[in-house]
Amino acid sequence: MGKHVVHFSCRHCGHCCRDVVCLPTPHDVIEIVRRTKRNPYHFIEFLTPDEIDNVPDWDPTWLECNGDRYIMALHRDKKGCFFRNKRTSFCEIYEHRPLLCRLYPFRFHETRQRKYKGFSLHSDVGCPRERDNAVETKPLHDLFVKDQTNQEDYNHLVAAFNRRNGSKKSPTEFIRTFIDGDFDENSELVEVVSKRNGKTHQKS
Ligand code: SF4
Ligand code: SF4
Repeated sequence: MGKHVVHFSCRHCGHCCRDVVCLPTPHDVIEIVRRTKRNPYHFIEFLTPDEIDNVPDWDPTWLECNGDRYIMALHRDKKGCFFRNKRTSFCEIYEHRPLLCRLYPFRFHETRQRKYKGFSLHSDVGCPRERDNAVETKPLHDLFVKDQTNQEDYNHLVAAFNRRNGSKKSPTEFIRTFIDGDFDENSELVEVVSKRNGKTHQKS
């Protein structure tokens, strides 16, 4: 584990874009749409528990709709992520890719007192984990903290969605709770973020 640097070098093998399901936060989705003008209804899919491994039952981002459960993911096909260019294998939205993609395969560690300890490489991933380069941990730490905050917003948003009733509720509707055309200030995500920042937000 490294406090200031972590030893790693990406070999661009493509595993993390081809074989791994990416679970973006609503903040990630908004960033992609804002910056790339892609249609979220095209690049998002909702997976059922039997379609994804390693997401525990208690994960707070499971959406509940009429007795079924779904989790939001970047759409994939047999060749991998929606954004993986099938000819070049590069990410088509690299500058605006989700934080999870930026943090792979790094693992954050902290003490029992929740003080920062450093980063290592996840041991249970298919990345070759070559270690012949030194990556500074400060940018990783900043990304991790940002992702944590985004995840908390995501959890609140899912909780609000799951409290809604309605026999016609579908997981696709979840997209509308944080993204609506030009991301107007009526989105529930704006309300969640405003509350977190101690501001009041009036829905019009
Ligand atoms: S968004 Fe880009 S970096 Fe992330 S999994 Fe898809 S292709 Fe890979
Ligand atoms: S799996 Fe590891 S080596 Fe392969 S592209 Fe992803 S980060 Fe790079």
